[in-house]
Amino acid sequence: MSTGCPFFTFVIVGGGIAGVTCAEQIASQFASDDVCLLTASPLVKTVTNFKQVSKTLEEFDVEEQPSSVLEEKYPNLKVIQSAVKLLRAKEHLLQAENGQTFHYKKLCICSGARPKLLTQDNPHVLGIRDTDSAQEFQKRLSKAKRIVVIGNGGIALELVYEVEGCEVIWAVKDRAIGNTFFDAGAAQFLIPSLEVDKKERSLPCKRARYTTDKTGAGQSGATGELGSALGPDWHEGIELRGTEQNSSGVHIEYECEVDKIYTQQEFLQSQLDTNKSELGLWPAYVQLTNGKIYGCDFVVSATGVVPNTDPFLSGNNFELAGDHGLRVDDHMRTSEQDVYAAGDVCTAGWEPSALWQQMRLWTQARQMGWYAARCMAADVLEEPIELDFCFELFSHITKFFNYKVVLLGKFNAQGLGQDHELLVRCTKGQEYVKVVLTGGRMVGAVLIGETDLEETFENLILNQMDLSRYGEELLNPNIDIEDYFD
Ligand code: FAD
Repeated sequence: MSTGCPFFTFVIVGGGIAGVTCAEQIASQFASDDVCLLTASPLVKTVTNFKQVSKTLEEFDVEEQPSSVLEEKYPNLKVIQSAVKLLRAKEHLLQAENGQTFHYKKLCICSGARPKLLTQDNPHVLGIRDTDSAQEFQKRLSKAKRIVVIGNGGIALELVYEVEGCEVIWAVKDRAIGNTFFDAGAAQFLIPSLEVDKKERSLPCKRARYTTDKTGAGQSGATGELGSALGPDWHEGIELRGTEQNSSGVHIEYECEVDKIYTQQEFLQSQLDTNKSELGLWPAYVQLTNGKIYGCDFVVSATGVVPNTDPFLSGNNFELAGDHGLRVDDHMRTSEQDVYAAGDVCTAGWEPSALWQQMRLWTQARQMGWYAARCMAADVLEEPIELDFCFELFSHITKFFNYKVVLLGKFNAQGLGQDHELLVRCTKGQEYVKVVLTGGRMVGAVLIGETDLEETFENLILNQMDLSRYGEELLNPNIDIEDYFD
């Protein structure tokens, strides 16, 4: 070890949910060891009001706080604001952008992910990731009459629902909206919500808001690109309004992607076989793969994320997964010795339970951060540790279009091929319930609305009871299903 550089038993990189959860857990378990949280962002994200809703479902709020809050709580935890520039894994050494070098015994990388942009460096294309980019979006939206949203995941879903006073052209590559979370039936259930006038939309959202930086400092790190990912309700407290008084229509283009984005000048000079004057004069034009062209003020690219692995790869031997995440085993260990990873930056490389899949979500970031800390501890203490129960069953609770949404197990029959059966119950504007059965056993469910079925269904999925004899009665609204299975 070279002299002069600080040594920490544990170094955690990243001040998002995964990193902070990991750092808190390890700092409280090893109160006499030095722990360092190295993060690019000036604020850290902490979990508050954690509530275990059922065996696997959890809800919590996230607060962005100054790092001093963590240091006060854990005297052995030092938070350093600087981005990691280089890792030399063999030497157990990290170099930060502020010029400091750190030695560690165990390292956990929780550097999150960034939006996968349609094109890099195109001023007409925006990605939404952190508070800064959300604010930039708000600023540009306030001057916009029409935007094009590309992508079909959670961010796109929230966005098209929240934007007011601006026409939205929404291009999705699938046959239904929200393909990451829903099937076509659930999409049909949700679509009328897009047509309801914003003022008439129901009850305010119950979920907590972000506390934002009261000092006025930006959220991103020195490079301007390394802020923490937002989470549910990222749009709360930010008015997403365009220039128009009334028009807030959403027009959906299905089964298409972006072919090309033109600047105004490129468009006007192009040889495109279209009536240019009919399309009007816009700052940008988007040509879709279905041949249609739309003029717009700007494009929002919400087409997924790429793990932030760049500063860690050079000179090291990390095994990367197909999605470019750091592949981790069932102890959250990467392929480099004493280097663990958790949250959006990693890809679960173990053989998953038949009812779980990784999705880059807030809940999984917390669970992985917490479990990675326990794995590091078990390693140091030479104790055995088993894969945590939270990886037994995929479960996620959120809100889309102001409906409560619970997703359990193989909620979209992921990986089941034809070998499954679906039962659906739907009351327009109220609830949508879908269960996925295979061999008469429940393996997944989508619950939209106040169904109150999550706990019962979670139990039925976990205990894998044979439900064949109940048939469609399983979703009969006149039967109190809980009594049924008591
Ligand atoms: P992050 O929160 O991204 O944190 C990464 C941290 O690493 C940051 O502090 C960053 O500054 C730091 N960092 C990065 N590089 C370096 C470096 N080189 N050196 C030092 N520090 C570094 N999930 C849900 O469950 N529900 C939702 O409704 C939902 N909505 C979302 C909406 C938006 C707009 C976005 C962008 C994401 C949403 N997500 C949602 C996903 C969720 O926010 C992420 O899965 C989660 O925040 C990941 O946490 P993380 O700790 O792994 O990474």
